[in-house]
Amino acid sequence: MINNMLNLKNFKIIDIRESEDDYRFLVEVASPPPSYCPKCGTVANLYKHGKKQQLFFDLPMHAKRVGIFVKRQRYKCRECNETFFEYLPDMDANRSVTNRLKDWIQEASLEKTFTSVADDIGVDEKTVLNIFNDYVAELEAQTDFRTPKWLGIDEVHLLKNYRCVITDVENKSVIDILRKRNKDTVISYLSKLQDIDNIELVAMDMWNPYKSAVNSVIPHAKIVIDKFHVVKLANEALEKIRKANRQNVSTKERRQLMRDRYVLLSRRKDLNNFDDQIKLQVWTDKFPLLGQAYELKEQFFDIYEAESIKEAYKLYQNWLLNVPKELIAYFDDLIKAMNNWEEEVFNYFNYPITNAYTESLNRLIKTMNHVGRGYSFEALRAKILFTQGYRKVKKKKKFKEVEVTFGKMLPDQFPNWSQTGYEWVYEEIYGADFSTLIKAIEEGTL
Ligand SMILES: [Zn+2]
Repeated sequence: MINNMLNLKNFKIIDIRESEDDYRFLVEVASPPPSYCPKCGTVANLYKHGKKQQLFFDLPMHAKRVGIFVKRQRYKCRECNETFFEYLPDMDANRSVTNRLKDWIQEASLEKTFTSVADDIGVDEKTVLNIFNDYVAELEAQTDFRTPKWLGIDEVHLLKNYRCVITDVENKSVIDILRKRNKDTVISYLSKLQDIDNIELVAMDMWNPYKSAVNSVIPHAKIVIDKFHVVKLANEALEKIRKANRQNVSTKERRQLMRDRYVLLSRRKDLNNFDDQIKLQVWTDKFPLLGQAYELKEQFFDIYEAESIKEAYKLYQNWLLNVPKELIAYFDDLIKAMNNWEEEVFNYFNYPITNAYTESLNRLIKTMNHVGRGYSFEALRAKILFTQGYRKVKKKKKFKEVEVTFGKMLPDQFPNWSQTGYEWVYEEIYGADFSTLIKAIEEGTL
């Protein structure tokens, strides 16, 4: 009876200790002694050479943590004089845990913090971390993300630092999240991608390290500055003018202007509410310079409605001539950006791609920062990329080796008998799909 308690038939239970939170088992291997020396291969020339107790952790039982002390036999070979420990079935060779606990930790470490996983089962955090790292390496090796035609490079503020997010623009999915956003990090990432010739366009922010990295690894790809990042600078100019006007107004008015700034930042065509239209009128009448800046902002956004690169370029030249001297300083960042990134900004009008997910991404990252306290960067990254079911998989494209179980097909008299094999399936992986990730977050399942 007692020997069934662990459900590890390769071990014989010698003793059980029990405390409020823990079980401690003392066991021996039940299988016969080794018949040959694993060092030199000589058969039947071994003798026992002491025992050593080694501790392995196992799945919790009856809400108690389980530790298994194995009295492990050591042998010595008369032929080569080498010593070795007996083989332990069901135990992981590297991490002092049972194989089934390792499987459990792998899944749990994607769901919970390392500390809480370690607490649940009694192992130290380092062990959880090591098992997690091995698992992520295994998942990476199995997951062959397809190199996209349109690559997106963006940045997010995640766990107190800027991180580089690599996306598939066409399929709106996250392919990877890099720890840093510097040139070397991006170069080393791009260099590892397969079929980089497939990349035609790269959508990005105006960030020199990204540009240098792309130019050095995939020089044939056209860089397109994401329109969101460009028009954002026009709104920022408007905000600077609003703030500059603060000293000319009463405290009450200043607060009101702060509350009403959304009407200034909206497109005129989107102001459907009559009250909002009045607000815009009042503020732009009261501060003529703000009114002028508002018009300039609107005109700048209009450039993006152009139907050809030629038209866009003309609209921009006109716009530039319309900026009055008094406002140049406020629009300086935008004008400089347009100068420094002219080719890449105007590429948009030939290749109108955009990281349309930006809003979703920001929402995702905000939530990640919130739920992510206590996680390491690697854990959050793996959570986003590898949590089961969040990878957008399109079938019938690529061969993949998978493990299958035939247990169900076997006769009833062998219910525990199963075997594994491999079959070929088709699949193609694009990355973690945004809409699925957002949905999971909203439902609290990520
Ligand atoms: Zn030997």
